[in-house]
Amino acid sequence: MNNFIDDVFAGIADGEEELRAFRQKLLLILPTVDIVLYGDNGAVVEASLPGFSDEMLLDCKSRMETKRIRSFMQLPDGDWINGIGIVDLQALLFIVIPHRSQPLDSDSSLLSLYLNAVHLALLQCRYEEQVVENEQLSRRMDVISNKHVQLLDDNHKQFLDIQRNEKEYAKKLEVEIARQTKELRQANERLEQASRLKSEFLANMSHELRTPMNAIIGFSGLLLETEQTEEQTDYTEIISKASSNLLVLINDILDLSKIEAGKFELEIRPFQFKALVKSVEAMFRSQAREKWNVLSCRIDPQLGEELLGDENRLRQILVNLTGNALKFTEKGEVVVFADLLQKIENKVKIRCGVRDTGIGIPPERQKAIFEKFTQVDGSTTRKYGGTGLGLSITSQLVDMMDGEIELESVTGQGSTFSFILSLAKAPASMFVAAEKTEKTTASIDDGAKEESLRALVVEDNLVNQRLASLLLKKQNCQADVAGDGIRALAKIKEKRYDFILMDVQMPNMDGHTATRKIREIEQSAEKETYACLAGRQSHLYIIGLTAHASKDDEQQCYDAGMDDFLTKPIVKEKLVSLLVKMKNMRL
Ligand code: ADP
Repeated sequence: MNNFIDDVFAGIADGEEELRAFRQKLLLILPTVDIVLYGDNGAVVEASLPGFSDEMLLDCKSRMETKRIRSFMQLPDGDWINGIGIVDLQALLFIVIPHRSQPLDSDSSLLSLYLNAVHLALLQCRYEEQVVENEQLSRRMDVISNKHVQLLDDNHKQFLDIQRNEKEYAKKLEVEIARQTKELRQANERLEQASRLKSEFLANMSHELRTPMNAIIGFSGLLLETEQTEEQTDYTEIISKASSNLLVLINDILDLSKIEAGKFELEIRPFQFKALVKSVEAMFRSQAREKWNVLSCRIDPQLGEELLGDENRLRQILVNLTGNALKFTEKGEVVVFADLLQKIENKVKIRCGVRDTGIGIPPERQKAIFEKFTQVDGSTTRKYGGTGLGLSITSQLVDMMDGEIELESVTGQGSTFSFILSLAKAPASMFVAAEKTEKTTASIDDGAKEESLRALVVEDNLVNQRLASLLLKKQNCQADVAGDGIRALAKIKEKRYDFILMDVQMPNMDGHTATRKIREIEQSAEKETYACLAGRQSHLYIIGLTAHASKDDEQQCYDAGMDDFLTKPIVKEKLVSLLVKMKNMRL
């Protein structure tokens, strides 16, 4: 109860105003009494009552205080002192209520009436205060809720603004992305076209360069087989060697361009790994002798397998490395080696490479020499020649085979270039087919010369016509020539041939069209009107002849209906092996 009263008077005791209001309330409840109030802050309300002096009040006050002290702070709620009812509330130190007419001494029931009245007044005060507080609170709530609504409103507006801005931004972004994508697509198309043009240019260049090379290499080869003075032989050999070097260079440039244009594809076929390494050694034997080098070949005896891989490109790698080793070694030793590192199920892991005791490569140049057009230093070109393309191509080829090239070298002591490859073993069935072809090739002998074959050379270039005819003639094969596909058709109408050597790129009618035409005729009754085709058991053998040397070109020849494929410059051994095949077929 006291706490409650304290709470109420905490506000009321603040000033006289509140005390007065409280007194008014009390008077309304107790209209027949006079009331004097003492606040604990010293405020006194209605102290001068008639017949009641200040001294009497002070006396009451001090008596009450004394009593309070005496009773150890446990105050009674009220008491009668000199006929004055005193109600004690802690915050409102005293409420003195003297009765107006006659004092009713010690009437405790009256005192408790006063006490109740005081509590009622206090409650009323508290109630009013509460009402005011409630009003204030509800006003505050209103303000807060208005603020809240306003905040929500503002937030929503901001949200809408952000959403609108985001949409605008997204739209702008979309437009920008679309613009950039379009630009990129156009740039890409331009690049693709440039790359296409570059590839076409390279293909044409390949044709244009190889055609004269074909003539130079072919004729210098033929020239070497004729009666010549020593001086003439010497010059012819120089021409032959220079043109072979030039062909290597042309091939290198073409290879590199193809690799860089992503147009280079490996041709995976079964091959004899051991035979390949041996053939590379054999190829360089005479070159090694020229510089007093000892060239040898060390192949792990366990490596007898037929493997699957791109034999030609593997040969190209080994040829590049062996060529370099011999170039940079004098009176030394060069070893072409192949070690078996691991055999797992149907795969083998091989470490292959070339070791030499040549000039070596300084450590600081060992990385750079794999970059294209890079040599150890400027003097290399002057002393040894070369273009700096070989190792770049070699390392890219190894890379395409999922291998990695490594170099160990000590200046003045020598170098070892090696690479590790994982190759699959060729399934037996695949190898039987490959072996058959090998055997046909292996049985090349003078037998091809015994009986005369008749060939039709279809070629527009006069020099190449002559060269092909001469090469065939050297192999005891009679050759007629036709300048294009149309003339070829006319020729086979008139005369019987054992096979056709068919160039691809020709005016009027190209080699593919002519071949398709011949295959059509063979399937029709018209066949009998062609001297070359009439009464044939098997179809006419057509060998494609082209300066283009890619897998695609080869496939196009087969698609057109050709049976075999030769690239220019014609390699004598390949021509001879084809002639053997022709002869066997005729028999
Ligand atoms: P090229 O031989 O045509 O210059 P390569 O790319 O094959 O081009 O070789 C680049 C350079 O690396 C060579 O010019 C030479 O300086 C160095 N080099 C390559 N192989 C060897 C080697 N076996 N011994 C010493 N130096 C070598």
